[in-house]
Amino acid sequence: MSITLIKGGTVVSATGRVLADVLIDGETIVAVLDPESTLLGHDLASTADKVIDATGKYVIPGGIDAHTHMQLPFGGTFAADTFETGTRAAAWGGTTTIVDFAVQTAGGRIEDGLASWHEQAAGECAIDYGFHQIVGGVDADSLKALAKLPDEGVTSYKMFTAYPGVFMSGDGELLRAMQVAGENGLLTMMHAENGPAIDVIAEQLVAAGKTDPYYHGKARVWQMEEEATHRVIMLADVARAPLYVVHVSAKQAAAQIAAARDEGKNVFGETCPQYLYMSLEEHLGATSEEWGAFEGAKYVCSPPLRDSGERHQDHMWRSLRTNDLQMVSTDHCPFCQADQNELGRGDFRKIPNGMGTVEHRVNLMYQGVVTGEISLERWVELISTTPARMFGMYGKKGVIQPGADADVVVYDPNGHTSIGYDKTHHMNFDHSSWEGFEIDGHVDVVLSRGRVLIEDDEYHGEKGHGQFIKRGQSQYLI
Ligand SMILES: [Zn+2]
Ligand SMILES: [Zn+2]
Repeated sequence: MSITLIKGGTVVSATGRVLADVLIDGETIVAVLDPESTLLGHDLASTADKVIDATGKYVIPGGIDAHTHMQLPFGGTFAADTFETGTRAAAWGGTTTIVDFAVQTAGGRIEDGLASWHEQAAGECAIDYGFHQIVGGVDADSLKALAKLPDEGVTSYKMFTAYPGVFMSGDGELLRAMQVAGENGLLTMMHAENGPAIDVIAEQLVAAGKTDPYYHGKARVWQMEEEATHRVIMLADVARAPLYVVHVSAKQAAAQIAAARDEGKNVFGETCPQYLYMSLEEHLGATSEEWGAFEGAKYVCSPPLRDSGERHQDHMWRSLRTNDLQMVSTDHCPFCQADQNELGRGDFRKIPNGMGTVEHRVNLMYQGVVTGEISLERWVELISTTPARMFGMYGKKGVIQPGADADVVVYDPNGHTSIGYDKTHHMNFDHSSWEGFEIDGHVDVVLSRGRVLIEDDEYHGEKGHGQFIKRGQSQYLI
């Protein structure tokens, strides 16, 4: 077993920071030591196989992105990052665990969906990975399979009130699934937008000749998100099931979650970096020489980027500070502008939905520390500790302490990262969703279970290193 010592850094956790050395034996953290301590000997560095100098830097638990869609089939094509390329890019950006979504659709079996995703990911990932289960078809068979998912280490599943005919479930189906989830300790994740009503508005816009990507945002107005969020909170309450609302983008939806939490309900909320930094006008409404008004197709995601005049972004940051929202995941689901997004030229409804962020989440959230939106400790909590607890991995993941997996990032607050397709971009699509973003920090070293994946701006990982994580129950539930 090889011994690694991370020396001289400031270990930052969700609850504080301390100057400490981190000792790693093989894949596991075995000690967090006062730098002056001689308890384990006078010169640990000389007995270690590898010493990483973290002087002046932060030593944090590896990022956990709990919402990614590698190679997801969508709109007649597939998300451009595979498990291989997506997890490698994640590692570059300091993320050492993803939780991706296995898919079942109406008529299909949950067991088959899960098995298929295991097959796609096995041997491909550079970092550890878990699965949520998408349940797109509720019937007697799928409800039975849902109840057994915790035995497979899959303790959360996602349903949709949007995408009629593809992933959407009706209210009765949602309720039935939530009842099973509540009884079996599963966390229900919900894509909350009123799909059928959105489709009507979208159809009317297209009929009026309003076909540019910008109108994707105009079709999916905030009222549709607030309504669906409120509805699923009520359904979960009736079903006595805990609820996790994914990718919250509207301040009104966040307020529904906050109100439910104030009443003591087991309701949680996640937002994404795009809803903290991007807007309908600036991004969906963008134009370029190359693409004209179709430039905005790079920023088509659902829920959409919102009107800056409505001031959703400020509210999302505030909600993260106040813990009205607890999570930041990426909803990573990128498509190439050429050939893939182009399917929707002349009709925004045909643009596959999704952006690519898995590589940049740790950095983008750190910029929130720089600008004073969140504290350093809250940063660590948001990018690692809470996801670990929320999805039943804490102890092994999400913390630097003896017994934890040695998933560790050395982060340099005096470094700099310029994001852009020709600058920092290791994801597998033909543009950067974050072109031009500048980060006042840098991911220096990344370890996954003791193995160095990134050091000196070089990649040392390999596909197949990443292992499937059998997750336990959400550690926020009582
Ligand atoms: Zn979704
Ligand atoms: Zn998603």
